Amino acid sequence: MEIEYYQARSLVREEKNGKIVHLNPYQGCFHDCVYCDGKAENYHMHEDFGTRLKVKENAPELLEQYLRKKGYLPVNRKKTGTLMDMGIKPPKQPEKIIVGISGGVCDIYQPAEEQVGMARKMMRIVYDYGLPIELLTKNKLVLKDLDLLKKINENTHATVCMSIVFSRENEHLREIFEPRASTISERFETLKILHGEGIDTGIWMMPVLPWICDSGENMESMVRDAADAGVRFVLPGGLTLKPGRQKDGVMACLGEHFPELVEKYAGMYGNNNKWGAPDREEIVRLGTPNWHPKLKRYCREYGIKLESW
Ligand code: SF4
Repeated sequence: MEIEYYQARSLVREEKNGKIVHLNPYQGCFHDCVYCDGKAENYHMHEDFGTRLKVKENAPELLEQYLRKKGYLPVNRKKTGTLMDMGIKPPKQPEKIIVGISGGVCDIYQPAEEQVGMARKMMRIVYDYGLPIELLTKNKLVLKDLDLLKKINENTHATVCMSIVFSRENEHLREIFEPRASTISERFETLKILHGEGIDTGIWMMPVLPWICDSGENMESMVRDAADAGVRFVLPGGLTLKPGRQKDGVMACLGEHFPELVEKYAGMYGNNNKWGAPDREEIVRLGTPNWHPKLKRYCREYGIKLESW
């Protein structure tokens, strides 16, 4: 992976509810998942998204600037650079926001994180400011920061989510669609270790690929493994295919590995909706499996909370 540093103008994206903010310290992702939404043109990512990583070198400064502007103080630092250092009580802090380091156009624990360490720098700041954190990844590398995660968890709260849509039995599908991410067994093992250390965990089960990973067997196996790993919740989501690079990549992959599905996907996503939403009439016409009731049943049976957007 080629690594390139640059000075960014923005880092933080606020969610409308004001309770969570998302950080994107990287652009590009070595995992190079076939269906990656980050490849869609509307995110203005570079063409060689899967082989060149752009690092926001000033991400730590941007995060601190953002938090200070919102009124937060580094309450867990010995030297805060404020009147607190002279023993003066700090003003009441604003309501805590959750800091989500979850990419969208990157996976923060892609292999380059070992060398660059930007996720760790972000987490350190989150700890200093006494805020809770939520991470999302497809890589076991998150365990390298277990010490810091535990500190945050003791201080406030830490949640680690793994993105998983294939069961361990379907590792061959992972190899096709998520060629450079951790194996499915490694992801479940990572979740188990995190749970054992008292960290809250969840699974983002998305995108559920029609006719590929929406079977009852695939879903039940994932939910069973999730329960075994102590996962608290599952958050599922369907596939969106934005016209352009993202859709072209998926269609090419189907042509190579699942030629029988090309026509079905072409029908479902033939509307070229700019947000990638499938055509509802085509879903009915094609008899696309409705996986949600099955997943709901498995989650109930195995005692896992089923979340929704
Ligand atoms: S891990 Fe996430 S950001 Fe990276 S390529 Fe896969 S879907 Fe995209």
